[in-house]
Amino acid sequence: MLTTITGFPRIGENRELKFALEKYFRHEISFADLSDTASAIRKNNYALMQTNKIDLIPVGDFSLYDNLLDAAVLFNLIPERYADKNLQPHEIYFAMARGHQENGIDLKALPMKKWFNTNYHYIEPEYDGSRDVKLETWFIDPLIKEATALNLNFKVSLIGPFTLLKHIRFVNGTNQKQLAPALTEAYCKLIDYLSQNNVSWAALAEPSLVRDLTPEDIKLFKEIYTAVLEHKKDLKICLETYFGDIRDIYKDVTALDFDCVALDFVEGGKTAELIEKYGFPENRILAAGLICGKNIWRSNYAGIVGTLQKLEEKGIKTALGTSCSLLHVPMTTARESKLGHDVTRHLAFACEKLNELAEIKSAVNGEEGFEKILEANRSLFEQQRAAPNEKVRERTDSLTESDFVRLPARKERRQIQQKELNLPLFPTTTIGSFPQTQEIRSLRKQLRTNQISPEEYTSQIRRHTAECIALQEKLGLDVLVHGEFERNDMVEYFGENLDGFIFTENGWVQSYGSRCVKPPVIWSDISRKCPVTVEMSRFAQSCSKKPVKGMLTGPVTILNWSFPRSDISAKTMILQLSLALRDEVKDLEDAGIRIIQIDEAALKEKLPLRKCDQVKEYLEFAIPSFRLLQSSLKPETQIHTHMCYSEFGEIVPWIDAMDADVITFEASRSDFRILDALESCNFETQIGPGVYDIHSPRVPATAEIVEALEKITAKTDFRKVWVNPDCGLKTRGWNETEASLRNMTEAAFIMRKNAAGTNGVKATA
Ligand code: GLN
Ligand code: ZN
Repeated sequence: MLTTITGFPRIGENRELKFALEKYFRHEISFADLSDTASAIRKNNYALMQTNKIDLIPVGDFSLYDNLLDAAVLFNLIPERYADKNLQPHEIYFAMARGHQENGIDLKALPMKKWFNTNYHYIEPEYDGSRDVKLETWFIDPLIKEATALNLNFKVSLIGPFTLLKHIRFVNGTNQKQLAPALTEAYCKLIDYLSQNNVSWAALAEPSLVRDLTPEDIKLFKEIYTAVLEHKKDLKICLETYFGDIRDIYKDVTALDFDCVALDFVEGGKTAELIEKYGFPENRILAAGLICGKNIWRSNYAGIVGTLQKLEEKGIKTALGTSCSLLHVPMTTARESKLGHDVTRHLAFACEKLNELAEIKSAVNGEEGFEKILEANRSLFEQQRAAPNEKVRERTDSLTESDFVRLPARKERRQIQQKELNLPLFPTTTIGSFPQTQEIRSLRKQLRTNQISPEEYTSQIRRHTAECIALQEKLGLDVLVHGEFERNDMVEYFGENLDGFIFTENGWVQSYGSRCVKPPVIWSDISRKCPVTVEMSRFAQSCSKKPVKGMLTGPVTILNWSFPRSDISAKTMILQLSLALRDEVKDLEDAGIRIIQIDEAALKEKLPLRKCDQVKEYLEFAIPSFRLLQSSLKPETQIHTHMCYSEFGEIVPWIDAMDADVITFEASRSDFRILDALESCNFETQIGPGVYDIHSPRVPATAEIVEALEKITAKTDFRKVWVNPDCGLKTRGWNETEASLRNMTEAAFIMRKNAAGTNGVKATA
């Protein structure tokens, strides 16, 4: 039995790629230096896979920034505005990734979107029809040479043509249909090129097959692959699918001449059933994704071995694999010195999962010592990890319908809140965090290493908070924030202050480009130990007469950005979190906080990919959890929520049903297209579509923001529009932040004046 994986973390054991990228961005190292770091990381990864006897090692899943961006460059899908500036190829690459503002060139980044139901973000390629689609072999040549020189047993892993087509944004009157033949042709060239270079395996990832497919999609897929597969000669091709099952296209896929098909047995609820019902062709390999690529728990070997045996009995040639790329888990538990063996023996990060592949393979092959391996694994699953918290269970069990309804209704609340807050038209605000400078991070480090006392730390953080509030006053913002200097991370901070979580020291996972997150682990039932944010909010509010927002992370986001338990349901975990936050919200109100923002940045992320699962398996409990946490508040208290991405077009009514008073979200990178969907659903919540992109260091001009606001007001009633950046400012520097916010408040003021001119509404500064 072969073993393989879909992909591996590329950030490096010590986040070497992150640090090298950031140095490169600051012009401290050259592109050649960056490439050297990347190569060292790859070599380390390959060695780890060899140690664990992985039979087919992925090559090409590595990326300096993102795989979709790589695919765009590999096939010359470069919009004219990036191509015509005389930039070096790697400068073009990074300009598309993160914008470029240098030597008189001012390019925005391409949009960044969430990759399926993960917290990984991809760069959305754009096709403007300006250049020929063609294979640029220089882009992968070094990778293949490197792997060949290392004598690896490898497969070249790339995004497949169907999924690429599905993720491209078409502009200038271009469309998918028009690009498909040329792109197919380019992939055929890729296959020729791999054959000529003596590559034995290519893996084309087609996760888009796990979504709901139309007959046209299926036709398109078949057309593309019929052509591509004709070119394969001695090259073997594996079709890789993940993040679900491929129920709409299973029969068509198995009828095509793939040498291997990788299927997801973890998230693919119907995978086993499809094989049972339709069989699997002889002489092809089924790569069974039985080891979860997303969770951090040890795999249950007995179950996996059982499935493998069943497949074997059916006469299916089986390989063992991961359900998806291991990109979504941290590198290794070996560097977790504080957790203790009681905890770590339940955990499996990427390296441990490689080892699981090796162990299961040895068990299946009946190698020496396999009984012991199986026995050790069995005994791990026989013990209860953590005892239930009876108080928490009683509280969730006794909830009734009325706990999920906030009264009076939002329309009525709006008038009450307007009187209470007396805000001008186009009220300005920010999303919460302000730049987390080296100074702030070093304060936290000093606290951690006992170089400063908790009192000293708190007083320093308060000083930064007070300065941040003074700056916002100076800039003329209307609704202030405290800046979140006390928070390392919006989820970890709450996790640390709630019972039920554990934390890793080095459990970093790539979120986008050079950015990583360190998700907490939900270990047991969740409850609030004591008030978390109340003192900080009270202090911040004491620094200003203007409202300062209380700032919380919502239950769904805390869950989605943590590693969840696998022994209780998402619904139960969300209810537990929501009740803990409900107490916090009430305490904030009692402390005199008039506006509370509850970030649900990740709400959309775990929405099931298939329509038929979305309501029952998610929305039906995720949305009410937001109402639960605010239903005990006074009508005067204004509730905001924030979502990082506006790709919630399909669930707009559900977002409105969260019953927030105001929602801010990202929309500027996608030209405010979401507003049409909001309008057509009579969206009631007041909205703050981010007027500039904070993921890039460029400073938007006032006129540019006015223009954005005009686009917004052309689509929406201006009386419900808020003015804010599209996300928190924590990753930005102070200079660009101050300049951007100054332009933003100026733009809001211009909008007010214009509104006053046309509608007789009085503007207030
Ligand atoms: N309040 C958080 C911040 O400003 C929200 C971050 C987010 O949406 N990801 O950082
Ligand atoms: Zn955000």
